[in-house]
Amino acid sequence: MFAAQSLQKTIARPLEYSGIALHTGKEVKMRCLPAEANSGVIFRRVDLGQEVEIKAEPGNVVSSRRCTSIGLKEDPAITVHTIEHLMAALWASDIDNIIIELDNPETPVADGSALPYIELIQEIGVKELREERKILKVEEALWVEKGDMYLVILPYDGFKVSYTLVYDHPVIGTQFAEYEQGLNDFIKEIAPARTFGFEREVELLHKRGLALGGSLDNAVLVADDRTVNPLRFSDEFVRHKIMDLVGDMFLNGFIAGHIIAVRSGHYLHVELARKIHEKHQQK
Ligand SMILES: [Zn+2]
Repeated sequence: MFAAQSLQKTIARPLEYSGIALHTGKEVKMRCLPAEANSGVIFRRVDLGQEVEIKAEPGNVVSSRRCTSIGLKEDPAITVHTIEHLMAALWASDIDNIIIELDNPETPVADGSALPYIELIQEIGVKELREERKILKVEEALWVEKGDMYLVILPYDGFKVSYTLVYDHPVIGTQFAEYEQGLNDFIKEIAPARTFGFEREVELLHKRGLALGGSLDNAVLVADDRTVNPLRFSDEFVRHKIMDLVGDMFLNGFIAGHIIAVRSGHYLHVELARKIHEKHQQK
């Protein structure tokens, strides 16, 4: 069940992976390195002449449109985009501390889910560090809302997400799914769920320089009355939203609480992560 006390972890040895980035469409080289206790998740850009590090934490999020992007406060032009799937994979792999080197401003998209990253970490293994993990326990209800989107976290002795997805689209409609650590298997039930996009939006996204790397290999493409490629789960969309949410919540490291989401996306996820962070700072 929910492990209240455990040691911090990092990866057992370095790992390398290359692949295309979802939005820029560029080939990205990623290298992950073990990190010391209490260092957290550090993204390191290695393509800028000098190495620049950006820690994955709520205060460093510079954009939450379409994906979650972190950046440098001193120079907001230096960013790392689309960190959420990788963050979810780290959460699922029980990794507290890691350095992720990238030679591009965006992570590789892999197959559009968190599973390939988890499998890479499973191959090289995980190492315990001699430092207790600190789990952030939410002690009061916190919520954010915007229009018809809601996101709440309630105190809970565990980690649970209840998600309601509402899309005015015949292929998606309303989907509800729940994930609870200890009861559900994240790696089997949530991590394989891929990102999705709408056929009718592709042209517009491309014009804006977005989704340039998107293809049937890394996203579910939704046409007006069907999905162009087959789904992995009949409710893959809501499962993917849970994965995004878990990845964004990992901006605060491991937390305990019950999160209830209705139509939320990266914007609200980051707003709630900031609120949780602020409350925690005051203590
Ligand atoms: Zn996603």
